[in-house]
Amino acid sequence: MIWPTAERNVTAAALSCERRGQNSNGPAIVATTFRVGVGYDIHRLAEDRRLVLGGVQIDFPLGLTGHSDGDAVLHAVTDALLGAAGLPDIGDLFPDTDPAYQDIDSRKLLAAAIDKVTEAGYSPNNIDLIVHAEQPRLSQHKRAIAASIAALTGLDPSAVSVKAKTNEGLGPLGHADGIACTAITTVVRDH
Ligand SMILES: [Zn+2]
Repeated sequence: MIWPTAERNVTAAALSCERRGQNSNGPAIVATTFRVGVGYDIHRLAEDRRLVLGGVQIDFPLGLTGHSDGDAVLHAVTDALLGAAGLPDIGDLFPDTDPAYQDIDSRKLLAAAIDKVTEAGYSPNNIDLIVHAEQPRLSQHKRAIAASIAALTGLDPSAVSVKAKTNEGLGPLGHADGIACTAITTVVRDH
């Protein structure tokens, strides 16, 4: 495959990949631009809060604190998508000092962010994330979380990967003081 220098679009801010040509079976490979984004979030666990991860309510005695519903998973995914599209982050777009976002369902924040990603000319392409939680054990919830995120982002479930890790008892996460999430996404240019 020939990679014309003029068609390369690699910057320090965004890793882009353009392919143009034909595969061995004949059909042309459409020129495509991908960008990568990363997001991270952490919230404290506390009493008298619902535990919501990836838009899925999980039965547990404690929930995540925060100005919104504390859904660290959706916040990390939202930030990753915004970053991939080169947009301001979730804190800039939805400041926690704004009463409009008090206890807001984070699914609404993600939907609003996807609208902005779309306006910027990109669509979500895939999401890979790790939930860092000592308690509760999330292995039985991974599929539901992935299905929820797929539905919220319009992605096929096969394009959303959810992994759950404990922190091996180390540090605040290991003492179940909170739950964190690291998410990586790609977006593809629409126009
Ligand atoms: Zn958050």
